[in-house]
Parts: sequence; structure tokens; C-alpha cells
Amino acid sequence: MAILITGGCGYIGSHTCIEMLNAGYDIVVVDNYYNSKPEALARVKELSGKDFPFYACDIRDEEGLSEVFAKHQIDAVIHFAGLKAVGESVAKPMMYYDNNVNGTLVLWRVMKKHGCSRIIFSSSATVYGSENASPLKEDFPTGAVTNPYGRTKYVIEEILKDICVSDEEASAVLLRYFNPVGAHESGRIGEDPNGIPNNLMPFLLQVAIGKREQLSIFGNDYDTPDGTGVRDYIHVVDLARGHVKAVEYALTHTGAMPINLGTGVGYSVLDMVHAFERINGVPVPHVIAPRRPGDIATCYSDPAKAKALLGWEAEKTLEDMCRDSWRWQSQNPKGYDE
Ligand code: NAD
Ligand code: UDP
Repeated sequence: MAILITGGCGYIGSHTCIEMLNAGYDIVVVDNYYNSKPEALARVKELSGKDFPFYACDIRDEEGLSEVFAKHQIDAVIHFAGLKAVGESVAKPMMYYDNNVNGTLVLWRVMKKHGCSRIIFSSSATVYGSENASPLKEDFPTGAVTNPYGRTKYVIEEILKDICVSDEEASAVLLRYFNPVGAHESGRIGEDPNGIPNNLMPFLLQVAIGKREQLSIFGNDYDTPDGTGVRDYIHVVDLARGHVKAVEYALTHTGAMPINLGTGVGYSVLDMVHAFERINGVPVPHVIAPRRPGDIATCYSDPAKAKALLGWEAEKTLEDMCRDSWRWQSQNPKGYDE
């Protein structure tokens, strides 16, 4: 028995590989290195002290993926492989629909051909759109998304729900991530973004290390306690552990189940900047800039369902998030390019 991890070389995938290995699972990893480097998995092996099979394969390569399933008895798939840059998805929607949606269709077809019907899918809080008020609950309406990236997540959720209606063996856990930040506490693996980071924490880290001059805070006139946007930041190791619990759930249940993975606590952009500066003793020069189009004021989860169904809740603190992010960034100023 083994669990296939698509996109296992990426940010969340690499941390999940470690937690799965620590929990005693055999894993098989597939990644096309579109947004990752082989060094990440080398460090996963170093940290876990375990080896596992890896295939440099695109999930849209039906033949290549079939060979992986032919070689290994795969009981469930954790499906991270996907493109995630919101701005790029607006410029290149076809690329996002092909990679994310078509990639998932090919993956499911190959899974079924080899008798595997259990998938844990990387969805996102973005499926809740801008219409719902936080705390966001899984039974709130979804689909009012504002960009092609978000639409791929929504569409894949709907596809997997339809499949679960038609196929009584199918199990799909739709994990809606809030804002993953942080890194493994060893400082050996973390997020290694290409180009100019879009997300708050990787940008803040590049300012802290001196690679960029200042952080632009996108708006201070939102209806929030300090006027800056509020989000539910979750430590990537907590998130990874949520996947271990989701695998256990998928192996013992059928049907489609959306589940939030968040802390239930919202922090503002200024909270994050001030906490980072205080905890690490490093200044983060920042300026107030205009709002970023498409941003909402507040987004945080109701995490009760994850606790009830998976027995999971986030354990790490804001201090852990800031400290571990900085340890990774300061020990690896060029990411995996040493
Ligand atoms: P990431 O880019 O670090 O990891 C994704 C991995 O998938 C990369 O290693 C990439 O090379 C690989 N990949 C992409 N397309 C592939 C393909 N066609 N075939 C094989 N491999 C492919 O991203 P991440 O932050 O680790 O995110 C993992 C998943 O979680 C993604 O699906 C993302 O959309 C989702 N997600 C991420 C966030 C976030 O803020 N990081 C939030 C919500 C959801
Ligand atoms: N943000 C910011 N400056 C940046 C990047 C992000 O002020 O350079 C803000 C953004 O407006 C939002 C929060 O930080 O309020 C989180 O943004 P991120 O892009 O990380 O996540 P998402 O928008 O997907 O929740």
C-alpha cells in the first residue's frame, strides 16, 4: 500500500511528504518540476531518513502516469499538482484550465483504471468568493470566484462531487486551505517562489533579507480593526498534518467532503509585519499602497468541521509561523539555489 503525492516537490507537498513518512506511510511522488527543484525532495529524504520512489512526470501524461500506477499499489492520491498564481491565471486562462482541470481529469481516469478511487484535493478558501462573511463554513455557497485560478479550484471541486455521486466507491476530500505560511522547523525546506512573490509572507521575507526595498501594504482603509486586510494564516506543518488525517478519513469513507484547513483566527497585514519584526528582531520597511484589485477585507475559517471529522486542529502559533519562516529564509537566502 502506498499513497501517491502529485506535486510533492512543491511548498506544501514537500512538507506533507515528511509528515506522511513520519506517520509511517509509504509514499510515491510525481512532479514535473514546473515550480519546484529536485533539491526539495533530497532534503525531505535527509530530514525523514527515508527513501521513496519519485517520477518526473506531468500529471497530464496519461501513459507516464499509468506506468507509475502499474509499478505501485496506490491506495489514495494526495493531489497538489497545479498552478497557483492568480495574476498569471488571468493572463493565461487556458494554461490554468489545462493544467489544473484537465490534469485532474487525466489523473482520475488513470486512478480508476488502476482501481484507485480515493483522492485528497488541494482546494482553496478562494472558492468562497467575496459574498460570504467570515468565519467561513463548508456549507456556505461557493463559486463566486473572481479569477481563472479560483475557478479551476471551484470547477475541480464540482467535478469531484459529481464523480462521487456517480461512483459509490469514490472518496474525495476537498481541503480548502486558508493562507499557508511558515516552514519546517529545521529551516531545511520552505517556500521558494519564482520571480516577484505575490503572497504576503514570501514578499515580506524578501524585504527582511534585503532582496527588496519595502513591502507595499495593499490598502489601510478596509473595514477591519486597523484598516489592513485580515487573513487566516496557517503554519504549513499544521497544514501538512491535516493531510495525514485526511488520508485516514479518505481510506475509511466514501463521498465528497469539503473541509476547511485554517486556524479560525484572523490577523491583519500590520499584525503580521509587527509580529515578524518583534519575534525575529528584523525590521520590515513598509509603505501603504492602494488596494489590490480583487482583494477582500476579511477572510478566516470556521475550523470546527476539521476537528469533528478529522480530529485535526492547528497547533502552531503566530510566533512559530514568523520564526520558522525567517529561519528558512535566512538560512537559504537563495532558496534551493545554493
Ligand atoms: P507549489 O507550486 O509549490 O507546488 C505545486 C507542485 O506541483 C510544484 O512542485 C509543481 O512543479 C507541480 N506541478 C504543477 N503542475 C504539474 C503537472 N501538470 N504535473 C506534475 N506536477 C505539476 O504550490 P503549493 O503552494 O505547494 O500548492 C500546492 C497546491 O495547493 C496547489 O494545487 C495550490 O493551488 C493549492 N493551494 C495553495 C495555496 C497557497 O497559498 N500556497 C493556497 C490554497 C491552495
Ligand atoms: N498583501 C499586501 N502586500 C503584499 C502581498 C499581500 O499587503 O505584497 C496583503 C493582501 O492585500 C491581503 C493579505 O496581504 O490582505 C494576504 O495576501 P496574499 O496574497 O498572501 O493571500 P490572499 O490574498 O490569497 O489571501
